[in-house]
Amino acid sequence: MITAAYQNTRLYINGEWCDAQSGATLDVVNPATGEKIGTVARSGISDLERAVAAAQAGFAAWRKVPAFERANLMRKAAALVRERADAIARLMTLEQGKPLAEARTEVNSAADIIEWFADEGRRVYGRLVPPRNVNAQQLVVKEPVGPVAAFTPWNFPINQVVRKLSAALTTGCSFIVKAPEETPASPAELIRAFADAGLPDGVLGLVFGDPPEISQVLTAHPAIRKITFTGSTAVGKQLAALAGQHMKRATMELGGHAPVIVADDADVELAVKASSAAKFRNAGQVCISPTRFLVHNSIRDEFAAALVTHAESLSVGDGLAEGTTLGPLANARRVTAMTSVVDNARRMGATVATGGGRIGTTGNFFAPTVLTNVPLDADVFNNEPFGPIAAIRGFDSLEEAIAEANRLPYGLAGYAFTRSIRNVHLLTNQLEVGMLWINQPATPWPEMPFGGVKDSGYGSEGGPEALEPYLVTKSVAVMAV
Ligand code: NAD
Repeated sequence: MITAAYQNTRLYINGEWCDAQSGATLDVVNPATGEKIGTVARSGISDLERAVAAAQAGFAAWRKVPAFERANLMRKAAALVRERADAIARLMTLEQGKPLAEARTEVNSAADIIEWFADEGRRVYGRLVPPRNVNAQQLVVKEPVGPVAAFTPWNFPINQVVRKLSAALTTGCSFIVKAPEETPASPAELIRAFADAGLPDGVLGLVFGDPPEISQVLTAHPAIRKITFTGSTAVGKQLAALAGQHMKRATMELGGHAPVIVADDADVELAVKASSAAKFRNAGQVCISPTRFLVHNSIRDEFAAALVTHAESLSVGDGLAEGTTLGPLANARRVTAMTSVVDNARRMGATVATGGGRIGTTGNFFAPTVLTNVPLDADVFNNEPFGPIAAIRGFDSLEEAIAEANRLPYGLAGYAFTRSIRNVHLLTNQLEVGMLWINQPATPWPEMPFGGVKDSGYGSEGGPEALEPYLVTKSVAVMAV
């Protein structure tokens, strides 16, 4: 059981919690205070070798467990996650910074995701194909791909693991995750819920360490049959190339730069409410965060003023403190990045309507920021800001806004606000995104596909599509003799 205090995180290999064989650890820091709060075990090559051997044995056992029983076990794990949600959320806020209420939502939605995937795994069907010979039978059989290696980031320490893990387990794969070194304790509690629910040894492995070393070793290992990564497009391209070199299946959930198109006929109040809440959730460190606000010139000033009012109403502070609605950035790198994004925009002629700088000198606090009149060539309109910065530009025709939305190589999420059915059709047909939310905030429910197009990656982590990458197809023909 976990206690309320932060704890050191160990590896989980072959059903046992253990230190790295070398005894090496990395420090974990609270982003609200800058203080060290614990350590995480740092795997070396020998730990990875053990994890892969365990995953091979785990796969041999788990693939034979009927889907019905796999689902029951996953449901038990989901129940444990729910039971422990408060304590796990506290760990997440301590290591990641997000407000406690957001952490609690992330933990509870993990349980929801596990349950949805548990059920979906019971509906992995093969098929019978009419034979050309009456004495023959033709079958299409779906089988688990094999041991999977996953690499996940620090912005949603549990959510980024749980979609991959649930798809793998429900289809009968074993799974090793290199979870984020900066936020290790909360994902370790997700793994613990499965261990406590009775998952056989070796089916699940948890490692931490040097990300490039681990991804290199696991992707190249012949026993690993698939990799899945969430993180930046730059790293994703490297890993996709590595996967290609070793002929491994790959799912890539990469960066985005979500356009928010607010048409002249939009419900402006709704547009502000839905997009501002989404913008500043998790301090903007969200791959589907709204980032490029494209607002019709007739309502641009009204929209910008309302967004500023919202930004200024946020209560910035330690995520554990009562009333905090915007926590610190998860690491000091993001503060540096945000400062440079704002400096660049200012130099290029944008107006800093609110915020624009670091708050205090302790912890990674950055003021919620709204930039207006942002030139197209400003950094913030080209590279994913991944922080609490909203950048606004005006447009005159919807076609112009769509062209701007599609200009970048990213294609993850998009948002739009309009009352016109013509606009809805145009946006639905023409926006180059994997997910589009119109007149509403993002609702990435597990039953809906989740993923991007273009440089935002490939593969889905939601809906029935999410199971496909974990399955291989066997074509069987049998002649009666
Ligand atoms: P980064 O690109 O170095 O790392 C991003 C993530 O990838 C981290 O979790 C890191 O541990 C992992 N990583 C890095 N190199 C790896 C490798 N060779 N093999 C396996 N994993 C590897 O940068 P960062 O400073 O941690 O984050 C900054 C940028 O990353 C952000 O600007 C954002 O674009 C992106 N990011 C995206 C997401 C997302 O949800 N898509 C999450 C976190 C970060």
